[in-house]
Amino acid sequence: MRRPLLLASALAVVMAATTIQPVCLDLAPTMARWTTPPLDPLHTSTGLGTAVRVPLPAATAEITTPSADVPSTDEIELGGRVLHRGPSEIREVALSFDDGPSSVYTPRVLRILRERGVRATFFVLGRAAEREPDLLAAIAAAGHDFGNHGYSHTSFRSLYPSQIEDELDRTADTVELATALRPRFVRPPYGRFPPSSVELMGRRGEDVVLWSVDAADWTGATPAEVAEAVVRATIPGGVILLHDTEPTTVAALPLVLDGLARRGFRVVDLAELLGRPAYGETR
Ligand SMILES: [Zn+2]
Repeated sequence: MRRPLLLASALAVVMAATTIQPVCLDLAPTMARWTTPPLDPLHTSTGLGTAVRVPLPAATAEITTPSADVPSTDEIELGGRVLHRGPSEIREVALSFDDGPSSVYTPRVLRILRERGVRATFFVLGRAAEREPDLLAAIAAAGHDFGNHGYSHTSFRSLYPSQIEDELDRTADTVELATALRPRFVRPPYGRFPPSSVELMGRRGEDVVLWSVDAADWTGATPAEVAEAVVRATIPGGVILLHDTEPTTVAALPLVLDGLARRGFRVVDLAELLGRPAYGETR
């Protein structure tokens, strides 16, 4: 067990030593959330990357994020790789955008990233990517990377191995068709997958890439709240999860970048942060 984490003035929570995202994000005044690996003894989560939501006392005035008790889990070996973040020695972080591309929001995200000279990774959804080949090409032309978020956003925990492969192939084929690039970073929908599927993805030459900071940008929090929580929760090596399908994200992104810069973080792409290639052999 790690030492207690002080969430509010009178509320401490003890997390399992294996907790991946020990820095709590206050989604709402009465909620905190973090990410745990499989078989977490404290929360009995059964999948990797399960976000745990904890109701806090309603009167909680302020949730303070203590200096992070930096987790030792950079990587979990399950016959393949599951990565949550890069090395913590350098003040570098990576941005990742899930669930797109969106004809409405992705171009706005791209514009902000271009203005700031920042590169990010887009974990695209196959069924959305199919409709937006031009947008895929624009993402690639701007120097950003792709990751694979599956085709239909179905949890891998409810799929047979052959169906997981189908989700991955249909999405990777779509990206490859539009850009001649075949992504090898996989972010399973909801961050959930059976441990056995890691070996399957490892055999396919793919890495599972989760996140260490969940922006919770779809929860109804304001852009300022999202940005503040992200900036506060980010530690060196962090992988930040955002969604290029949300107006809140577009509005929060400049604030996130400002805040990260203020804290001395350099934003690099995921491949650089993780020291792993973003692309595999094309088919
Ligand atoms: Zn998603």
